[in-house]
Amino acid sequence: MHFTTRTWRPNYEANSCIIQLTSGCTYQKCHFCNLYEQEPFHLSPLSEFEEDLAEIKKYQPYARRLFLTGANPFALHYEQLKPYLLTIRDYLIKCQTIAMFASIRDIQNKELWQLKKLRAMGVNGLSIGIESGEDETLLLANKGYTAQDILEQCRKLDAAEIEYYFVYMTGLAGKGACLRNAENSANLINQLHPYFISVTSLTIFPHTKFFDMVRQGSFVPSGEKERIRELQTLIQNLQIRTHLFANSKSNFYPIAAYLPKERDFAIQQLQDVIDTVPEEEMERYRNMLRSLE
Ligand code: SF4
Repeated sequence: MHFTTRTWRPNYEANSCIIQLTSGCTYQKCHFCNLYEQEPFHLSPLSEFEEDLAEIKKYQPYARRLFLTGANPFALHYEQLKPYLLTIRDYLIKCQTIAMFASIRDIQNKELWQLKKLRAMGVNGLSIGIESGEDETLLLANKGYTAQDILEQCRKLDAAEIEYYFVYMTGLAGKGACLRNAENSANLINQLHPYFISVTSLTIFPHTKFFDMVRQGSFVPSGEKERIRELQTLIQNLQIRTHLFANSKSNFYPIAAYLPKERDFAIQQLQDVIDTVPEEEMERYRNMLRSLE
């Protein structure tokens, strides 16, 4: 397999076949991120991609789901993606879905008819790190799009019947602003249909803009209990039927809930953590984290 760099895939894609389509990120400007600082965006040649498909076919001829690597392979324009997607079916006849990371910016370069065609070619399951659904926080994190962009672009995905998942990041709004961010974000998400929401929590790493801003005093990170209250607020205000997973390493307390059914239980579990665990213990946990997850 032609893996030229580290690969990142969400926990929930653990059972998917991973194949390199791209590496790196087309954007590289989010203020919390240092994931791809050494890796310029790269598209694998079709010949290499085909060799990898042949290898997957040898070991998993009945693979049903592929996950394409890179921070945002969906940045490729429709005409660039098309030959790769069509080739997949030449090798893996049982492949039903082709998932990948995508940014809101990457949907903007596609018309609705193109999204529908991509869906017909198997694209389904876009992991979108919106991180927040309010303009103040999106701007602070330099995400490069607005809440209105999220609405418009994800409505296109809804119309094309492409399933998508959101990543929300607690702590991103900074000290004192997290509950507001959660409430505004929930109000936005309630107008859309993410199949599930995965929650991570901000950790400040070297070689990021936030790292410099913290040192200069222009960004004050929120405390850990504020982030857990933020998660409670998000859960409290989400009115859609969805799964919520806040169980990656960056969350001090792992939790998963099917909403709205398990709302009260999840909020109570988080309250127990707030009531029983000292803030210092949570801070020690955060200081031990070494990578963005
Ligand atoms: S968070 Fe994603 S889109 Fe932003 S710089 Fe990092 S890899 Fe690129």
